[in-house]
Amino acid sequence: MHRDPLPIHEIIRIVGKENTLTAPEELYCYGYDASKLRSSPDVVVFPGSVNEVAELIKLANRRRFPVFPRGAGSGMVGAAVPWNGGMVMVLTRLNRILEIDSDNMLAVSEPGVITGEFQQAVLRHGLFYPPDPASLQFCTLGGNVAMCAGGPRAVKYGVTRDYVLGLEAVLPTGSVVTTGTRTMKGVVGYDLTRLLVGSEGTLGIFTKIILRLVPAPEGVRTLMAVFPNLDGAAKTVSAIIKQRLVPSTLEIMDQATIKVVENYLQIGLPTQAEAILLIEVDGRACLLDGDVKKIGEICGQCGASQVEIAHTEAERERLWQARRAVSPALGQIKPGKINEDVTVPRTEIPALIRAIQQLAEKYDLTIVCFGHAGDGNIHTNIMLDRNNEDELKRSELAVEELFRTVLDLGGTLSGEHGIGITKSPFLQWEIGAEGFDAMWRIKAALDPLNILNPGKMFVPNRAFFN
Ligand SMILES: Cc1cc2nc3c(=O)[nH]c(=O)nc-3n(C[C@H](O)[C@H](O)[C@H](O)COP(=O)(O)OP(=O)(O)OC[C@H]3O[C@@H](n4cnc5c(N)ncnc54)[C@H](O)[C@@H]3O)c2cc1C
Repeated sequence: MHRDPLPIHEIIRIVGKENTLTAPEELYCYGYDASKLRSSPDVVVFPGSVNEVAELIKLANRRRFPVFPRGAGSGMVGAAVPWNGGMVMVLTRLNRILEIDSDNMLAVSEPGVITGEFQQAVLRHGLFYPPDPASLQFCTLGGNVAMCAGGPRAVKYGVTRDYVLGLEAVLPTGSVVTTGTRTMKGVVGYDLTRLLVGSEGTLGIFTKIILRLVPAPEGVRTLMAVFPNLDGAAKTVSAIIKQRLVPSTLEIMDQATIKVVENYLQIGLPTQAEAILLIEVDGRACLLDGDVKKIGEICGQCGASQVEIAHTEAERERLWQARRAVSPALGQIKPGKINEDVTVPRTEIPALIRAIQQLAEKYDLTIVCFGHAGDGNIHTNIMLDRNNEDELKRSELAVEELFRTVLDLGGTLSGEHGIGITKSPFLQWEIGAEGFDAMWRIKAALDPLNILNPGKMFVPNRAFFN
């Protein structure tokens, strides 16, 4: 897209000088996300109302400049990065929880509210908002809806899309739509809510979000099981669910992870073990002890060499200590990592981890696997030094082979992080040419000038719009 300089005066007229950044050192701070991709925008704005968002988008269409919505910038795939300049629109001024309706178990929020703060606010009403991305202390609800974020609790509670009842959104041409309902049922027209959830900022900018809530669980119990053999751990995952026990969290750490965490914490983790499972159940207090006992027995039957149940909050914290230390511990191996969040049917976890071990050998790389075994979402971390060109090349080849393996196993390239820029070359591998074409047509119909978050998801076909 050819662009003239951005109409800064008109932009300031809409949002005010105090909500507009143009100095290079300020722009620099809004040119990246957690993917480490970087590209400075031409201007950053902080709109304070749906009208301002709509006015800015209409201006962008008239003057043909791209707009990149942004929450906290914690995305892992470059979805919020302003590729080739343009306007970054930060939604964090829209940060009010507008309503918590206990009777109908829903809340209406603006998009800039921090997820963890929202959870705490509804908890004060005895209500629970389950989606729990590890970034919840700093990411925003708007970013969560755009990326359909999920976390460890997805195994029992699902992901963000399962809680979005409706949206107010500014479409790429500047019109404002409200989608969905405040009711548990509603089947009127196309499901635009579902279309917008997970659209990675390419189809609309959310200005209000209606979220379904559930009753807060009365309690939680935690146990850790150590497995000499990886297949035993995987068998346990399926066996627990077959018994109709659905844990709220079912996390796995492979042997490479156990070793690196032990080296970091020195807490006596069993480095000979091929896997550790960390399992939590939540719900009615009177059922929890029975459930956790049954799960402990299943672990033993499937070959666990050690099962530890936490009886106090301090013991629970100790069991979580190793899992929480994974990310900082990884820094000991290499300065960088490629973190893929591939997901397979849970019965294919052993096949996936074995294939990853073979990739590590084939490409002479350290690959560490951990994550959400309950829903087959295995975080695969290829450790590398990005300044080492040969290692970077080998890592990229390993990622391609990983993606092919995951698709062969009936899985998906991303369970949580999305496509953004980093995975866009691989989108067609999963959805096929026809699926890609259908998605592209939706994008082109809603955003004929490719104003909203261009260069994401559809990068291989970007020339189409230029
Ligand atoms: C340490 C760490 C741990 C993480 N753990 C998890 C995890 O467990 N699970 C998980 O799913 N993700 C995780 N993430 C990734 C990230 O936190 C999520 O993708 C999160 O949803 C992004 O929210 P954000 O507010 O930072 O959005 P941003 O990164 O700012 O933006 C993400 C996308 O949302 C769009 N967007 C933002 N606001 C709006 C809006 N109001 N309307 C329309 N589009 C909008 C942007 O254009 C962009 O495409 C993690 C990231 C980090 C750094």
